[in-house]
Amino acid sequence: MKKEAVDVLVIGAGPSGCVASAYLNKNGVKVKVVEKARFPRFVIGESFLPRSMEHYEEAGLLEALKAKKFEIKPGARFIRGEDICFFDFSVKFGDGWDWTWQAPRADFDMTLAEEVQRQGVEVCFETEVTNVEFKGTDSLTTVKNKEGEAYQIEAKFIIDSSGYGRVLPRLLNLDKPSDVTENSAIFTHVKDERRVSGGEGTLISFDILETQVWLWVIPFSNGNTSIGVVGPTKYINSLPEDTEVALREVINRSDYYRERYLHTEFLFKPHKIQDYSCAVKQNYGPGFVLTGNSAEFLDPVFSSGVCFATESGLLSAKLFLKEQGGQAVDWEKEYSDYMKRGVRVFSTYVKEWYTGNLQTLFFHRPENPDVKKKICSVLAGYVWNEDNPFVMKHDRVIKSMAYLIQNGGSPEEY
Ligand code: FAD
Repeated sequence: MKKEAVDVLVIGAGPSGCVASAYLNKNGVKVKVVEKARFPRFVIGESFLPRSMEHYEEAGLLEALKAKKFEIKPGARFIRGEDICFFDFSVKFGDGWDWTWQAPRADFDMTLAEEVQRQGVEVCFETEVTNVEFKGTDSLTTVKNKEGEAYQIEAKFIIDSSGYGRVLPRLLNLDKPSDVTENSAIFTHVKDERRVSGGEGTLISFDILETQVWLWVIPFSNGNTSIGVVGPTKYINSLPEDTEVALREVINRSDYYRERYLHTEFLFKPHKIQDYSCAVKQNYGPGFVLTGNSAEFLDPVFSSGVCFATESGLLSAKLFLKEQGGQAVDWEKEYSDYMKRGVRVFSTYVKEWYTGNLQTLFFHRPENPDVKKKICSVLAGYVWNEDNPFVMKHDRVIKSMAYLIQNGGSPEEY
């Protein structure tokens, strides 16, 4: 079998793999990306967080993305009946980016992959990893290309950014159940013919239909909009089996969006993804690291998926470089603990969203501007900011404030 050798093999050309490979390439590492799909390819996850702009910038990918003029996401709007809560990323606690994008991933990921190639990274599309063998930290990966030919790649290190493919977690039996509630989703894209121009038309929104059931509306700059419903698997499975009928039934429940979308043609048969949350027993090992969804995915509710994917992609590349430069790396502390710290914060926000506690804070009036700024910083992805009490005390602050409000108090008393 044909064999080749690289320093680092990256599995998957999604945001995580692209950020990792661009950063390594920029720093002189021989890196190769193998990608199972043919690009552009559809994947869900179309609303991003400001924090990830820093990752694209550091990896040298930001300008290519800017040139595509994707829809700017200046914040996020939550709707509950007549009540609205808008988080403006420019009004947040601490430093950080004030905006990001909302974009169809086929175009977004294609832009990243093209830019990575333009910078000199070899990306082999339609090439699927079928097996990986480790000898210490060295690895031998078997791939199959679109012609059906198998060949092998020797690598000093593997960055597994295979997303839902979860290549190494499956091969090394690293999967573990997520402790986030089992949720599912149904989603499609529509041609947004009734979109009004200006703010309202393009504002990304989350319409709460029940405490645990919500509809997303993500307008793109190409005139299309992504619409999806998320809820407990039991609820999603109680909807009509035909996903188009099911999604229309949910849209019909939305007072805010019924008129705009009920009769709009769907651009494709809505997809259904069940019980998407996942986790791993360990996110690194001798000769490899797991990044992005290959390691863990919580829930779409605060759009954290791509941000964790780029954060972990960039960090894994930096740590590899550090090690290669002769410095010792404590992967447990510098990678695993660090990533878990951020994931834990978001995980609390996700869980407290579905208990309803966070919604109590979002819709409490009058708004407390100080509380709002601190939550906004978390929602922008700044979950490692230790100056923010809504990061540091994430496990008690939401619960306690919601309890106060529900018992006639106000957040100021906390
Ligand atoms: P991916 O983008 O999935 O890329 C992985 C790549 O690896 C793929 O291109 C795949 O083809 C390739 N691959 C897989 N197996 C192999 C193999 N054997 N060999 C070679 N290549 C392989 N996140 C957000 O940030 N915002 C959102 O609004 C959002 N909404 C979501 C809604 C739903 C319903 C769900 C389920 C998820 C949502 N997410 C969202 C999460 C988001 O989809 C992921 O977190 C994100 O795509 C992860 O990026 P990645 O780079 O890790 O993986």
